[in-house]
Amino acid sequence: MARRSPATAGRRRLIPDIGFLFNSYVFLRSVHGSCSLLARQHRPFRPVIDQETFQYLLPLACQWAKTQEEFVLARGVPLRPGQIVDARRVGVQDCSRVKVLVVDRIPLPDNKELAEAARYTQIITAACRGVAIGHAIIIRADSWGDRELLLHQLVHVAQCEQTGGLEHWIQRYLNDRHNCTKFTIGCLEEEARGLAREICAADQLKKLESGSHSRFS
Ligand SMILES: [Zn+2]
Repeated sequence: MARRSPATAGRRRLIPDIGFLFNSYVFLRSVHGSCSLLARQHRPFRPVIDQETFQYLLPLACQWAKTQEEFVLARGVPLRPGQIVDARRVGVQDCSRVKVLVVDRIPLPDNKELAEAARYTQIITAACRGVAIGHAIIIRADSWGDRELLLHQLVHVAQCEQTGGLEHWIQRYLNDRHNCTKFTIGCLEEEARGLAREICAADQLKKLESGSHSRFS
């Protein structure tokens, strides 16, 4: 009999986790909907994916991410001037390297176990509207023009640059989400959501203030 691969072994452990997942988490779409938000209810922490499966999937995730980044960098469009201003504002260093590709649906990995894990962990789901992989940004066509969504992805680009490249960032991002005990989105995701929301809200306020100022002056 063929030896069970770590992936198959991992999947066995993933299946009982489904019930736990659905009982323990409330799935909410984030405000901008770029990623789904898993809000924990009052239950003790337990990782969604066990350590052995995580270690097995990590290099596959890195490989998939590299292929996606190369594809988008070759076919995507560069940032527009206004988007470059936003990119600089969130700390992107190499703005000319960033490429954006608009798609009908955010791609999931071909590898079934990796795709399954991406959905379980809510990193990429059918509801996902955008994703950043290194200097590559993929945006779903119906969300093109959503500034907060693009800002969110640009924060991930800056995080990747600060971490020292795609492979390091993927490891950091997945470890962050995997080991997060407080809130399953992890601090990198929290930073991206918070900063994008903050910038849009500040600009909106500025616009309102200048509007009311010109009305009364
Ligand atoms: Zn994100």
